Amino acid sequence: TFYVIECEGLPSTLKCDSLYAPEWKELAVEKEHVGFIGLGVMGSPMAAHLVRAGYPMTVFNRTSVKMEPLMAIGAAPSGSCRELASRSDIVISMVSDSPDVEEVYLGPDGVLAGVRKGSLLIDMSTISPGMAIRVTRCAEEAGCTMMDAPVSGGDVGARNATLSIMVGGETQAFDRALPLLQVLGKPILCGPSGAGQTVKACNQIATALHLVAMSEALVLGQKAGVDPTVILQVLGAGYAESRVMDVRGPRVVRRDFAPGFRGRLHHKDLHIVLETARELGCPLPASALAHELFSSVVANGWGDLDHSAVIRVLETLAGVEVTGSAPR
Ligand code: NAP
Repeated sequence: TFYVIECEGLPSTLKCDSLYAPEWKELAVEKEHVGFIGLGVMGSPMAAHLVRAGYPMTVFNRTSVKMEPLMAIGAAPSGSCRELASRSDIVISMVSDSPDVEEVYLGPDGVLAGVRKGSLLIDMSTISPGMAIRVTRCAEEAGCTMMDAPVSGGDVGARNATLSIMVGGETQAFDRALPLLQVLGKPILCGPSGAGQTVKACNQIATALHLVAMSEALVLGQKAGVDPTVILQVLGAGYAESRVMDVRGPRVVRRDFAPGFRGRLHHKDLHIVLETARELGCPLPASALAHELFSSVVANGWGDLDHSAVIRVLETLAGVEVTGSAPR
């Protein structure tokens, strides 16, 4: 949000991002035009929050029918990323993986083919830090600024606007994006371009290992004939408590694996983790194990289930199912 203000003693109107002095008179509140690309599980509620916060918006989704709910609340549709960029001051993307971001920004019908000079580009997808830096350099050559801003908090965080947003970029760009990002959750500037994606990779290590730890605990308990609900209660009240277990544990015991965060996306994220670690010469043995377990999630056809379906791999190894009933 920029306030256009008029102040006695000053020659003309000024634009600023907050009202500093009571004698300044607010003339209008101008919001920058946002273009939003990728209306999936995450992008759709995020775009809707911005429309409801008063941002004029153009949307693009590859599968065009997904634009309809946004059009119903006032967003304008577009036929390509290129067309969307030509109408926007700020472009946000929320697509799947590194090659998708490459296509969305650098493809023949991509954002950089239509973008206006001075635009701010924010990619909120989870991709490799290397790709984030590469696309940012191309954006700078086109006269724009770009930030990586992946998120944590899942579909619930997107719906409740409580996402943790990990930003890589310059301070000036961060300040420009701040009012908009605050509509979606809590933005934190992590460092220069790519740093947001690096922090997200760290986040995905911790989340995957929490899930695997919870799964092994529940499988062992089930094998011994202890009620998994009791295990969740006791662990949740002690030193081993975790948000992952609080949110996913009860759903696992109910055998509810509806996504949520799809297993195949967490597999993709662990691939990014290991690729980044290899580039840096950083051994991550536990992440490598988690990557293999998520490979098994995908190989078994469970990739479109919630990532907590990783417990099914461990259940298969142990020959039990965590249900609360007597072990097989
Ligand atoms: P999703 O529901 O599968 O949506 C993906 C979106 O990206 C769809 O709109 C899809 O378009 C679009 N897309 C993919 N490839 C594209 C391409 N090449 N060109 C144009 N559009 C393309 O995924 P999501 O759960 O919203 O996740 C989006 C990103 O957020 C991922 O990077 C994921 O890792 C990250 N993330 C997800 C969660 C979560 O809990 N879901 C949490 C944190 C971070 P179509 O509709 O045409 O397929």
